[in-house]
Amino acid sequence: MSSPLGDLDVETFRGAAHRVVDWMADYLAHPERHPVLSRAEPGDVRRTLPRHPPAGAEPIDEILADVDRVIMPGITHWNNPAFFAYFAISGSAPGILGEMISAALNVNAMLWKTSPAATELEEVVLEWLREMMGLPNEWFGVITDTASISTLLALAAAREAPVELAIRERGMAGRADLPVMRVYCSDQAHSSVDKAAITLGLGYENVTRVASDDAFRMRADLLERAMAEDVAAGRRPLAVVATTGTTSTTSIDPVRAIAAVCKRYGAWLHIDAAYGGAAATAPEMRWVLDGAELADSLVVNPHKWLFTPVDCSALYARDGDTLKRAFALVPEYLATARQGQVVDFMDYGVQLGHRFRALKLWMVIRAFGAEGIAARVREHCALARELASWIESEPDWQLSAPVPLSVVCFRHVPRATMTAEELDAHNERIMHQVNASGEAYLSHTKLRGARVLRIAIGHLRTERRHVARAWALLKACT
Ligand code: PLP
Repeated sequence: MSSPLGDLDVETFRGAAHRVVDWMADYLAHPERHPVLSRAEPGDVRRTLPRHPPAGAEPIDEILADVDRVIMPGITHWNNPAFFAYFAISGSAPGILGEMISAALNVNAMLWKTSPAATELEEVVLEWLREMMGLPNEWFGVITDTASISTLLALAAAREAPVELAIRERGMAGRADLPVMRVYCSDQAHSSVDKAAITLGLGYENVTRVASDDAFRMRADLLERAMAEDVAAGRRPLAVVATTGTTSTTSIDPVRAIAAVCKRYGAWLHIDAAYGGAAATAPEMRWVLDGAELADSLVVNPHKWLFTPVDCSALYARDGDTLKRAFALVPEYLATARQGQVVDFMDYGVQLGHRFRALKLWMVIRAFGAEGIAARVREHCALARELASWIESEPDWQLSAPVPLSVVCFRHVPRATMTAEELDAHNERIMHQVNASGEAYLSHTKLRGARVLRIAIGHLRTERRHVARAWALLKACT
């Protein structure tokens, strides 16, 4: 029943919410009921939706029934343990509860005073995460929606760091005094680096893609050479983005060597640890972030491999004030008496509004414990190594890259006589066939021009049997 205000009355809400929670629990308990990759064709979902909004109120039970009827067939199940594509993300139970509570509270932590608990919890939970990954104590953290935005903010801070450029005040257009500014990353870095350069007006062409070595890690010697050439030509090396856990293979750039180059050239060092940073929660895998203490900023996504529902990305900056200098702007209607004495998260990014994402991260870390999280990450890496060993033991299958974390890149090479194009097409067909089974979902990438299959093991509920089933399907599809 609707209240006179049009919203559900409280008792109707209570009943519907209980049914929704039952629905969620059943969904999580029976992932096999749905094909992992949606079988919807373009337009299928749209065709089942009315073209115009309802003029009058509709009963909540009808709306909820439509979630099953209309929405579910068009869902690709990222929360299925056999989701092996891209990087898996998990809505863990405490994370889902955190999302529910934050939806009910619906606070906007733009200022400390607009929800002191949201701000202070975010500060503390990011200190916890920092400690779990072995990052320096002084680093300042802020939660954003995605790694792409975190990297954008980091590069905006990098652009602001050389104060003499005065870009915040004077902009970049029409300025003969500004040098061309360069950003460097490896040929394996994520496209979010390019997008940040585009957005910040640095220009797509000014992102230098440094070649990687045999294990897909940035070559620090070539980075240095590129910077030297730029300086000789009057260009300014602004920032380097090192990746620890690249998207295709999870290769880990040599951060320490890169940091030394950055120091010599006065460039900002940002680390994209969106995926790989989570591995550092396992003490024996801290090497993943070796040298990170020398960086200026780092992003890690709890919504990737730390079992927190999307969206939740943690951006750390060695000096929070530089980030603040890039973005803080306080119009009168947002001024408070406590300005400067407390953290107002609106000062650390583009958006004014600040979602209460810290709540779900806090609930995840508490419910798992730091050791519980590390145990899952460790298990995923072990499963990836086991899958790699199965692949290596078959004469017609080849590993395409080292397996430092939990992603395995590989291909089927049945005959030496197949051309490169035929091999690509053959592996593409295998992938589509496995995905069409509905039992597993994997994706592909290109490595040195060759199309390879890619299994990323990072979902909380992935067990050995899911990986074994995916491997059996792959073999059956050759
Ligand atoms: N960096 C790396 C290494 C990634 O793999 C990804 C996405 O997979 C991103 C950044 C972008 O992440 P987001 O979707 O949070 O922007």
